[in-house]
Amino acid sequence: MSRARPAILVHYHELALKRGNRPLFLRQLGRNLLRATEDLGPATLRQLSGRLLLEPDGAVPVEAVRDRVTRVCGVSSVAVAYRVASTVDQMKAVITRLIEGRTFASFRISARRAFKTYPMTSVELNRELGAFVLGRAATRVNLHDPALEIHVEVLPAETFVYVDRVAGPGGLPVGASGTVAALLSGGIDSPVAAWRMMKRGCRVGFVHFHSVPYLPPTSQAKARALVERLTQWQYDSRLALVPFGEIQREVVLSVPPPARVVVYRRLMIRIAEALARRWGAQALVTGESLGQVASQTLSNLARIDEVAGMPVFRPLIGMDKLEITDEARRLGTFEISIEPDADCCTLFVPRHPATRMSVDEARAVEARLEVERLVAAGVDGAVVEVFEFPARTPAAVP
Ligand code: ATP
Ligand code: MG
Repeated sequence: MSRARPAILVHYHELALKRGNRPLFLRQLGRNLLRATEDLGPATLRQLSGRLLLEPDGAVPVEAVRDRVTRVCGVSSVAVAYRVASTVDQMKAVITRLIEGRTFASFRISARRAFKTYPMTSVELNRELGAFVLGRAATRVNLHDPALEIHVEVLPAETFVYVDRVAGPGGLPVGASGTVAALLSGGIDSPVAAWRMMKRGCRVGFVHFHSVPYLPPTSQAKARALVERLTQWQYDSRLALVPFGEIQREVVLSVPPPARVVVYRRLMIRIAEALARRWGAQALVTGESLGQVASQTLSNLARIDEVAGMPVFRPLIGMDKLEITDEARRLGTFEISIEPDADCCTLFVPRHPATRMSVDEARAVEARLEVERLVAAGVDGAVVEVFEFPARTPAAVP
């Protein structure tokens, strides 16, 4: 009978690993798993064939560790697993313990062998262990939609048995793909766009434009709350708060109303790019979705991209509002985004923005502005704040 403490068994997408970048991927994933859980207590990380095992020390609550791991990008699934020697008796002993006191109308055994020289096939294991469960609980087998799935993974040196596998975000571990800078408004879309990039392995720096003192500082508070939430997926974040009200005031003085939104956006992109370069970021990210509002037409997006000296990624470009909103709810950013606030784009914004603007028109209206000075004012006025999750206690910092 296994009395060993359970450990956290972490699965990742094998598919992501077919590119010769496996060592980098695994090293980053391992680092992130430890970072995501370090405040809960010390843990040891082991690399097994095709999986990682996180073994928390003594008193650390494994369920709390498991919950943190569900938010580590690159993780496809995670379970609290029991480790036993690879004998059928040991497997039965731990299954007995796992089903004790549980009622489940149906179940299945899902046995897998990570090495094929084990004397029993997975089909034989499923049969033998299934018959064992049927002999001890009032239940039946249901292969397609079981109330309880009992996983048995036979590895060369040991076997892991677990129920209740939880899905992770999938994707790639944050830090494996480089750094990007996301333009973060207080709205619903841009936090989701930023998260999508994290899921592809990017570390995301945030840039928020506010209109203090022309508007109250509510948009900054929302940006901070959103970054705090999103930091749970990447552990360390930077947020640049850029004063934009004065810049907008100057635009209003010389740019006709229909052209203003595109001009604001072009200025935001230039300022964000300068900050991005300081952070070593190689691309910008926005929450734009094609045609969602008048300012997000194909031609306006083209006008915006023209002024960027690095790629502008728009992960939501093909999504509709409903899909984006669902994702925002899952991430827990939705509740923050819908807090009422007067964002800088409600200030000095025309009622009917142009949906088409030619390259020449855009250049002509900008010729009335001192673009360089405005960009420098934004960059120099930026205040950068740092966020951490989990918070590092001073003692933990080397
Ligand atoms: P969101 O829901 O992200 O605010 P939106 O649908 O309201 O997007 P727009 O207001 O047109 O769209 O903004 C388009 C994109 O421009 C945003 O997704 C964001 O990336 C960027 N953006 C807009 N306003 C700001 C701001 N105040 N600070 C930083 N980025 C901004
Ligand atoms: Mg918005």
